[in-house]
Amino acid sequence: MDKITIKNLEVFCNHGVYKEENILGQKFLVSAELSLSTRKAGLSDALEDSVSYGDVSRLITAEMKKQNDKLLERAAERIAGQILKEFPLIDSVRIEVKKPWAPVMMHLDYASVSIERGWHRVYVGVGSNMGERQAWIDMAAEALRSDGNNRNFRSAQVIETEPYGYLEQDKFLNTVFTFETLYEPEELLLRMQEIEKEAHRERKIHWGPRTLDLDLLLYDNRITESPVLTIPHPEMTKRLFVLIPLCELNPHGVHPLYRKRFAEYKEALEQQENK
Ligand code: ADP
Ligand code: MG
Repeated sequence: MDKITIKNLEVFCNHGVYKEENILGQKFLVSAELSLSTRKAGLSDALEDSVSYGDVSRLITAEMKKQNDKLLERAAERIAGQILKEFPLIDSVRIEVKKPWAPVMMHLDYASVSIERGWHRVYVGVGSNMGERQAWIDMAAEALRSDGNNRNFRSAQVIETEPYGYLEQDKFLNTVFTFETLYEPEELLLRMQEIEKEAHRERKIHWGPRTLDLDLLLYDNRITESPVLTIPHPEMTKRLFVLIPLCELNPHGVHPLYRKRFAEYKEALEQQENK
């Protein structure tokens, strides 16, 4: 990926754990590495096809002076989030905030924190088979679409499907959402569980009736396995009600672990059903 770099931008401001730091202030040096494609600007020579490092430098200065943080971690986090939200061409940023005059009573060149943040493409499986099914799905779509940490939200068509697993229940409405997010996977899962709660979701019967079920199917090409979160979602290749809307949104998508196209899983299941 191409990069635009800003190195050691000097800002005088008041971050720090000590009261004296908040009163007197000190010098900070901020570096930013912006990842984006510069190909279009490289061919057109037009600034609007790229990102102005002057604008980014002004944003960093304003963000550093906006409030007094105790930690460099916090200052770096705010700068990264603001840059990603204000400059849509940037996919990811690396931010380093240095404190050359860190009050530790010893000599050092500087103490610093550096972080990398970016937009991540996610797919979320959606299901409802209780009450106002379409309204619960619309509510979830609106909550995720309007969240400032998400962008470029799209939904596949909603389909009606027979219950899965536990059969003594009403038909489902299913779909898949896709968007880009600044949330880490566990944070997004928590956000999705809050939305499920808003839909009065109660966890009673496994695979039983639910007002709203939101499953994290894919997060970039990440593969994780923890007690609370497994991605890719382990059941996704077995469920037509996931694969149909998923293939509508991303017809050529590939499973990050098994390296097989989702369309192949879908076709195999459809053939099985037609037998
Ligand atoms: P299901 O979706 O299988 O019907 P639930 O919605 O009740 O069941 O989810 C049960 C648990 O699955 C949650 O507590 C969550 O921590 C865990 N889980 C693991 N991986 C995922 C994932 N990729 N998406 C959603 N939940 C997950
Ligand atoms: Mg679930």
